[in-house]
Amino acid sequence: METYHFTCPDCRREFTVTEPMREATLENGCPVCGGPVTRTHFAVDTPSA
Ligand SMILES: [Zn+2]
Repeated sequence: METYHFTCPDCRREFTVTEPMREATLENGCPVCGGPVTRTHFAVDTPSA
């Protein structure tokens, strides 16, 4: 499954998230600080294996 690298614009925490987690984060905000996030805060992770 494709994963995304999320960097919170507010608390600067970084996570690797899956597509459903990305959708949930876009709806509910950052899981750490609750700050609003947009699609621009996600970068596609390309596995280097
Ligand atoms: Zn945050």
